[in-house]
Amino acid sequence: MTETRNTVILGSGCAGLTAALYTARAGLKPLVLEGHEPGGQLSITTLVENFPGWPDGIQGPDLIENMKKQAARFGAEYQMAHLVSVEAGAHPIRLQTSTGEILTRTLIVASGASARWLGLPSEQALIGHGVSSCATCDGFFFRDKEIAVVGGGDSAMEEAIFLTRFATRVTLLHRREAFRASKIMLERAMAHPRIVLRTNTVVEEVLGVDQKEVRGLRLRDVTSGARDELAVSGMFLGIGHEPNAKMFTGQIDLDPEGYIKTSNNVFTTRNGDVVPGVYACGDVQDRRYRQAITAAGSGCMAALEAERYLEERGL
Ligand code: NAP
Repeated sequence: MTETRNTVILGSGCAGLTAALYTARAGLKPLVLEGHEPGGQLSITTLVENFPGWPDGIQGPDLIENMKKQAARFGAEYQMAHLVSVEAGAHPIRLQTSTGEILTRTLIVASGASARWLGLPSEQALIGHGVSSCATCDGFFFRDKEIAVVGGGDSAMEEAIFLTRFATRVTLLHRREAFRASKIMLERAMAHPRIVLRTNTVVEEVLGVDQKEVRGLRLRDVTSGARDELAVSGMFLGIGHEPNAKMFTGQIDLDPEGYIKTSNNVFTTRNGDVVPGVYACGDVQDRRYRQAITAAGSGCMAALEAERYLEERGL
């Protein structure tokens, strides 16, 4: 018969690994399933300077590796596997994964959100070398440089405004004439002396692959078809995030954009009622803060709730 685990954690980013540390120290021997982006978004950033405790900053992948080791020291186990389907309301909870079935008494969903990318090969090649999807993480490295932000929603406006703290000029590139951003954010961006808005413009290529750093962008005006080059040292994507929660459709409540709805921070629900033993933490349920430290904090909360759930039932 398949062994029933105490806790399975889906995702090995900051939220999942913090949940792993706490549940491991509570003696629950958590199993962490690492999916298609092991380590989450931190594993694709460079220097992290806003995680408390690292006065000189720490590389994102190193921070993740440290968290992994820290949880492993107390008995956390790791497995590479994709979740195929889940019966969240079953007792034990049943997970079908790419490597087989797993039964567990509690499940902590920390599967994160993935930044949307344009999908250009040159963009993918330069991620971490001038291409970024996180202004708060990487903006600092563009002091006195010219940069571009892609997108027409609130995230793009927010990134562009934030990046003016560092950059001499921010060119905001949007593929249409009309903006999705709220009026107030758009007006703020338009009024900013260091932000230039270019509409009806798409990025065809990020220049600098051979030099291993962004040197500029090849742009196309979608109305006239005219092409030109914009000399910038960085390109920030502000074209939205996709929560990794599709596999929970019909099992737990998701909001209209696919994020897991939580009540009291980390409790999941189904038709509004709490789903016992299933918790969500980190970016898969947070569209607002999306920081490593807030993800870690909610991972801790999910772990404490899982412990409490098992303890109250004598499991
Ligand atoms: P969003 O509102 O979905 O906007 C995404 C933008 O990226 C759209 O303008 C879209 O263009 C563009 N885009 C998408 N795919 C693209 C592609 N492949 N190439 C070029 N452009 C592409 O996403 P968001 O800005 O991340 O906002 C998500 C939610 O969070 C919204 O509800 C927003 O209000 C909220 N939010 C609020 C704040 C705030 O209030 N401070 C800050 C950030 C986010 P189209 O318009 O042509 O589709």
